[in-house]
Amino acid sequence: MIKTTNPYNGSTIKEYAMHSPVQLTTSIANAASAFENWKLESIKSRTKLLHKVSELLLERKQEYAELMTREMGKPISQSIAEIEKCAHCCNFYVENAAQFLADELIVTDADESFISKDPMGAILAIMPWNFPFWQVIRFAAPNLTAGNTILLKHASNTTGCALAIEQLFIDAGYPTGCFQTILTDHESIENCIADKRIKGVTLTGSGKAGKAVAELAGKHLKKSVMELGGNNACIVWEDADLEKYMETIVKARMQNTGQSCIAAKRFVVVDVIYDNFVAAFKEHIQLLKSGNPMEPHIEIGVMAREDLVVTLEEQIGTSVNKGAKVTHGNLRDGNYFEPTVLEEVVPGMPAFDDELFGPVAAIVRAKDRADSISIAANSTFGLGTMLFTEDIDAARKMVGAIPDGAFFINEMVKSDPRLPFGGTKNSGYGRELSKEGMLEFVNKKTVYIR
Ligand code: NAP
Repeated sequence: MIKTTNPYNGSTIKEYAMHSPVQLTTSIANAASAFENWKLESIKSRTKLLHKVSELLLERKQEYAELMTREMGKPISQSIAEIEKCAHCCNFYVENAAQFLADELIVTDADESFISKDPMGAILAIMPWNFPFWQVIRFAAPNLTAGNTILLKHASNTTGCALAIEQLFIDAGYPTGCFQTILTDHESIENCIADKRIKGVTLTGSGKAGKAVAELAGKHLKKSVMELGGNNACIVWEDADLEKYMETIVKARMQNTGQSCIAAKRFVVVDVIYDNFVAAFKEHIQLLKSGNPMEPHIEIGVMAREDLVVTLEEQIGTSVNKGAKVTHGNLRDGNYFEPTVLEEVVPGMPAFDDELFGPVAAIVRAKDRADSISIAANSTFGLGTMLFTEDIDAARKMVGAIPDGAFFINEMVKSDPRLPFGGTKNSGYGRELSKEGMLEFVNKKTVYIR
């Protein structure tokens, strides 16, 4: 049984029966048989359905946004923005899929040679609760359009969203079996990955889940993509325009109540500007409005589950025992956690080494620019780094020194359907979005004609 709970007031939302082994096998069979026809559809007819998905998302955005907020506590204005971004992502692939999937001619000694991009088949998608619609749509839009079919195993606490997304694709007119939600536990995942009709697996989630699923994918030789946790550094050099960018810097940490993989988690600030930075940061977070996430003006909601709050408190406690100082916040009320500032953070503390998945800014003092870059790169994660400075030439020279999947100068790390998204090191491998993401689960077939 899966029970969903409203993290704002603790009330039970709904209970769902898990799918039986027979139901799971039927879903896999449906996905595989749907693929046989779906792969033959023209890209034009596939994008026509995707356009319908985009229309339905916008028509139903209030309903979907309320469902998300109810299940995981995201402020409603951010839930609405998430649905709008999903619609935008669908339209991006409506406009660009034909070009991305077109045969690529390569001149060789053949009369004709080219790369054909064939869909692989049924793909298992394991997704997290933090952006319950966005994480699914950013994978499903390009992959369905490439001709694959999808089985979604969503996070249990957003099961209502998982079923709503399945219904969305049905209502848009996708053939039966193209997109199905499965309600299952971790133990059943191996059987699913092992099944010869499942051709690949993608997981967005924690490193722990990523390692478990990547191991299974390796064991059964299935193509996999892993979009895992992050511990992004936000570097602030001495010439940063704090007045202009502080709102962005605060949003980079506090958006989605701090529960974003690409959030700025370690603020690496050079000594000369340190005091000004901390004062301005605290001033800004005091302006954030906390409260009932269903109210439109709220900017900080509640964390999605009690165990996540407990973990965050433990990480702060251990960091403080090792010398970090709480200089703002740190109050808890149920699943609400006040925006918090932790200073004197150094390597060896959870606040530096691990991912803090909540509204807590870990601030690290750097001696100078060079020191800031080496502190930022000192991480087992590699999703993204941001750097704030007015010296764009010097910042540009740092591109090679940042070993991450993304480097943003004077902007928070954010996803955009036009740009590839993904990590290095413990943040995973493979890419989503853009042309790169669309081609992860296609067979890039060499065709040679003499
Ligand atoms: P999680 O606990 O790893 O769960 C993610 C998904 O994996 C859920 O559907 C979960 O199912 C499933 N899962 C967990 N362990 C599994 C196992 N052993 N076998 C099969 N499935 C398993 O992560 P979360 O708490 O939902 O999400 C937060 C994490 O995701 C953070 O680390 C965040 O940084 C990361 N994230 C990364 C990205 C990115 O694009 N790189 C984006 C968003 C979030 P249950 O719910 O049933 O446990």
